[in-house]
Amino acid sequence: MICGRTHEELLRDIKNFHGYVAPGLVIGAFMVDVAYRLLEKNVEADVIVETKHCLPDAIQIFSPCTVGNGWLKILDLDKFAMAFHDRHTHAGIRIWLDLKKAEAHPNIYKWFMGQVSKKDLPSEVLVADIMKAGDDILSHAPVVVIKNAQREKKGAIRVCDRCREAYSASQGEICLACQGLGYYMQAAANA
Ligand SMILES: [Zn+2]
Repeated sequence: MICGRTHEELLRDIKNFHGYVAPGLVIGAFMVDVAYRLLEKNVEADVIVETKHCLPDAIQIFSPCTVGNGWLKILDLDKFAMAFHDRHTHAGIRIWLDLKKAEAHPNIYKWFMGQVSKKDLPSEVLVADIMKAGDDILSHAPVVVIKNAQREKKGAIRVCDRCREAYSASQGEICLACQGLGYYMQAAANA
């Protein structure tokens, strides 16, 4: 069992959440599984993931940590790693894909390093290899998180003088969108 699931359930849950069985999420499931085996029981674990790609979804499927509840933070370091840590003491465990170990699994290594096309290495073959490798390709080490460990608290709310929408008062006199950071323009309403 991985993260309390059979192999079939694991792949099914990935497909349901992510849209398709991405190899990175399968590896991510093993990473989360390692983390929860090593974390002390009853610890309130937050997690920092070191890439925007794939891995955040593995965490959201296989752990209680999500972007929305604030227990998952995403750093854009573009590394295939994550660190689960006690939200109070910040002590925890970092898990990463270990290239040295992955060398013993050529398909996984070549896929991870972008050295093989999808045509030459079909997804089913790769995923089967990842399932077989399990946590063989992972390493972990204890860490203390020294940045980004605090949960963000919601501050005071005010109403923007321009758009009349509520926003976080810490943004200033008017909301960030009205300060020029807006991302849209008004389109004509449908008749
Ligand atoms: Zn505004």
